[in-house]
Amino acid sequence: MGHVFRTEEQGMAVDALRTFLAAEIDPLFNKEYRDRYMPREVMAGLMRRLAEFGLVSGVVSEARGGLGLDWQTTLMLYEEIVATSADLSVPVLINSFGAHLLETLAPEHLRERYLPGLVAGDSFVSMGISEPDVGSNVLEIRTRARRDGDHWVINGEKTWISNGSYSDFLICTCRTGEDPRRGLTHILVDRREHGYEVRDIHKIAFNSQSTAQIFLSDVRVPVANTIGGEGEALKNTLALFERSRVFVAAQGLGIARRALDEAVLYATQRRQHGKLIAGHQLIAAMLAEMATQVDAARLLTYRAAAIIDAGLPAEMEAAMAKYFACEAAVTIARQAVQIHGGNGVTREFLVEKLAREAIVCPIPEGTTQMQQLIIGRALTGVAAF
Ligand SMILES: Cc1cc2nc3c(=O)[nH]c(=O)nc-3n(C[C@H](O)[C@H](O)[C@H](O)COP(=O)(O)OP(=O)(O)OC[C@H]3O[C@@H](n4cnc5c(N)ncnc54)[C@H](O)[C@@H]3O)c2cc1C
Repeated sequence: MGHVFRTEEQGMAVDALRTFLAAEIDPLFNKEYRDRYMPREVMAGLMRRLAEFGLVSGVVSEARGGLGLDWQTTLMLYEEIVATSADLSVPVLINSFGAHLLETLAPEHLRERYLPGLVAGDSFVSMGISEPDVGSNVLEIRTRARRDGDHWVINGEKTWISNGSYSDFLICTCRTGEDPRRGLTHILVDRREHGYEVRDIHKIAFNSQSTAQIFLSDVRVPVANTIGGEGEALKNTLALFERSRVFVAAQGLGIARRALDEAVLYATQRRQHGKLIAGHQLIAAMLAEMATQVDAARLLTYRAAAIIDAGLPAEMEAAMAKYFACEAAVTIARQAVQIHGGNGVTREFLVEKLAREAIVCPIPEGTTQMQQLIIGRALTGVAAF
């Protein structure tokens, strides 16, 4: 499915990655570390292996030591990661977008120091936007960076921060001025050099990797660690969201695709009423609906990536992809559980985990409701936020 849009080269890259993932990664996340926290060093070892296939390294230009892949190819590789392990897809996503932000917006000294580690898979970044009282409305960020000579002094709390415990550095969105739109600034905080506290959050799923609270208390950071210019963080974050939302759409797609695969497998093995359950029309109808939704999610996702590759604005298309693919994942994973009957709610089968993961997808990177509001605004020119 979707192969018609791949070049031969892309197909070979995807196949090589898929073989590696099936042999080494699938058993690791779906058995050994299923719902169990993976220590940083084990995760770093995987990130190093994945760099060879173009994960994280793909989004960085060749001039900067990466592979310089386009977004569609990167997404094809990413879809394979998600279909194998949604947990693993989180550090891949966050490190990719941290690397992209560093390459496109950071001053040279920060690029030189922090980009090579991400490209090689040796280091982890966190992106800190959300706070206990700030979720959908980024404009309300309270974590404050106050100027003190040639330093920022940062105080505040971030929450839901992916990679938190793994992170070597945090790209922290801070309030540096009162103007809601021009008062936010990205500042790179080094965990060892400047210091911040991390506390992990236990969730319904995605517990093999880290999602954490981050506490910053009088953290002194050189003003030279500003990324993208003072007051530019909102504009730069919104531009970044256009791309990262397509990747969260691919998370929904990957989970949905795996749920469909598991459902097809089960339906062609389980017998009831004297035949395979795949031979019952209501099961066949459910599978047909799931497959159609998976393909629709894939088409929307790759369409948004193609628009980005063409250098055109993709805000509405990225929102449509994120909205549709993540909601489809919830529906499809639930249907996959239904097709498994009682077995579907046990830990013996993967669909139980996929259903929990799917529920999370419509929340990060702008909830389903935020995507609907973005699409509505694009259609009418009237903001309903
Ligand atoms: C697993 C996971 C990983 C994450 N990783 C990161 C990360 O790395 N970095 C980071 O900064 N954040 C991260 N987040 C946070 C994520 O971006 C937020 O959870 C998300 O933006 C929603 O914010 P909230 O949870 O505060 O919900 P709220 O904004 O409080 O929303 C609650 C509900 O109200 C709805 N709502 C809000 N405003 C409106 C409105 N105007 N109209 C209609 N409905 C509305 C929402 O859609 C939602 O249903 C992560 C979250 C999760 C779950």
